[in-house]
Amino acid sequence: MASVQKVQSYLAYWFQLGKPVVFQHSQTQCLPSPIFHGSQLSVAFHHCWQTILQNSADSFLRGTDESIADLLSDEWDIVDCARCVMPLPMLVHGVKSSPCPCGDLDSWPNSEVPQPRAGVCSSQQLDDIRQRLGDRLPDRRHQSPELSV
Ligand SMILES: [Zn+2]
Repeated sequence: MASVQKVQSYLAYWFQLGKPVVFQHSQTQCLPSPIFHGSQLSVAFHHCWQTILQNSADSFLRGTDESIADLLSDEWDIVDCARCVMPLPMLVHGVKSSPCPCGDLDSWPNSEVPQPRAGVCSSQQLDDIRQRLGDRLPDRRHQSPELSV
């Protein structure tokens, strides 16, 4: 079973790539910013998480078929995508693995940029990642030393 922490971490990874949670019924979405406060999840993230919990059967990470309620059930676990090292849902008993949410991101996977991480990205680092995903031309001017590859 995917624990609350695992599902939160899963969402935090994908939020870092700009992928929102969509509330299907109301056609609204949530993408907290910032995602982290230091090494902790931010107030904005927890606010978004509360909204998700209130509508968990109706909340989907954009581009996925499993609701957040599904992920929090015994049926699903969170594993690493073989294609892009990002976390993705997988049925605990069964052969179906969900398509990775990376499927509709043309610019992902991209080995040229730092991988999103759990709980250690500053908002500046996230901006850098987003910028480089959106604009694939290398721009080393704003690169901080710990992001060097
Ligand atoms: Zn993937």
